[in-house]
Amino acid sequence: MALLVQKYGGTSVASVERIGAVADRVARSRAAGHRVAVVVSAMSGETDRLLGLASAIRHPPRGRELDTLLASGEQASIGLLAMALEARGCPACSYTGAQVPIRTDSSYNRARILEIDAARLRAELDAGRVVVVAGFQGVDETGSITTLGRGGSDTTGVALAVALGADECQIYTDVDGVYTADPRVEPNARRLDRLTFEEMLELASLGAKVLQIRAMEFASKYRVPLRVLSSFEDGPGTMIVPEEENGMEQPLISGVAFTRDEAKITIHRVPDRPGVAFRLLEDIAASNIEVDMIVQNVAPEHVETDFTFTVNRADYERARELVNPVAAELGAERVTGDPHIVKLSLVGVGMRSHAGIASRMFAALARENVNIQMISTSEIKISVVVDERYLELGVRALHEAFELHQG
Ligand code: ADP
Ligand code: ASP
Ligand code: MG
Repeated sequence: MALLVQKYGGTSVASVERIGAVADRVARSRAAGHRVAVVVSAMSGETDRLLGLASAIRHPPRGRELDTLLASGEQASIGLLAMALEARGCPACSYTGAQVPIRTDSSYNRARILEIDAARLRAELDAGRVVVVAGFQGVDETGSITTLGRGGSDTTGVALAVALGADECQIYTDVDGVYTADPRVEPNARRLDRLTFEEMLELASLGAKVLQIRAMEFASKYRVPLRVLSSFEDGPGTMIVPEEENGMEQPLISGVAFTRDEAKITIHRVPDRPGVAFRLLEDIAASNIEVDMIVQNVAPEHVETDFTFTVNRADYERARELVNPVAAELGAERVTGDPHIVKLSLVGVGMRSHAGIASRMFAALARENVNIQMISTSEIKISVVVDERYLELGVRALHEAFELHQG
């Protein structure tokens, strides 16, 4: 008999029929003798619908009241699922984040979980009931409702697994595991049986939205046994494991990831002297705009250099507005930008011990005539920035060049 946390995403609870299918699955786990805590997302499209309503009133929508609105999506789901379980003779009780309570800080719209008091949930489980907890939400010290950022129900699931000391955290979604690339973009993508925490963390941070990055940070910190599987069909899914448990033979590359919404800004011929990079990015950082890649040319005479950085596309206009006056003040020649770029990345722990991965990657893109605009590497990943029209082509070229369709 195990204690399981099962998280079901938006498409898994998209209709009353789908909620019924989830209830069947949960009831089967309980009938098999397991204790089950369920975390659910809002029904598919609901969070976007609520955001649309909010945008019609205030653009861009943000702040405390937005969280009150967005959290209602998950509240509807827990009520419906708990009712569906009861209808199947499976005792169940629904909990909003505040009722648990899941305590967070007060960064509305992207709050961080500080602590989960699992006493009430434990008592329910001990009494033989299934608990159904709303994902994506919590409560701050003033009693206000908070939300955890898009995809945040994954984080609720993993954090709850830590708080309850669960034997496994199961992420049920609309694909039957983690693939070598997003199966919607690369039809030849292959499901992986296992993947290390480190690789999944890297894939998530580079755009593979099958698991939210914060959920992976939690999972790898606490070594939560984590499995990704389909709510539509039975199967083993993908197990995320510590590196030492992944066997001796590591695949060289485990997957390709991408992010669509990137933009870049270049400051041309800025003086090459101490403090310039700091000045160029100072106001951007102060405005909470996240900068991803940064490239500065090596200036032969250390007189002038070109400085390029990337931001999320949604922050592009604002970042340009902020950087323009600084560039002028520093005497830069001009500022240019491109909001139509994407980032493609290769991830694999095998990279540590193998040379030549980068050149194989660049050769594959060259064969398809894809121009690489920027490059960045770390121990287990290589990322390149390319024009957005090459996204699908680039993903498939890399998948093929590294023969990822073969196990
Ligand atoms: P949920 O609503 O269940 O949280 P998401 O839409 O957030 O589901 O995440 C599942 C989606 O992630 C899949 O439908 C798939 O398109 C996408 N995805 C991106 N990269 C990968 C990958 N490497 N493996 C599997 N799915 C991926
Ligand atoms: N409903 C939220 C979203 O759409 C949280 C989640 O589904 O994980 O982002
Ligand atoms: Mg998700």
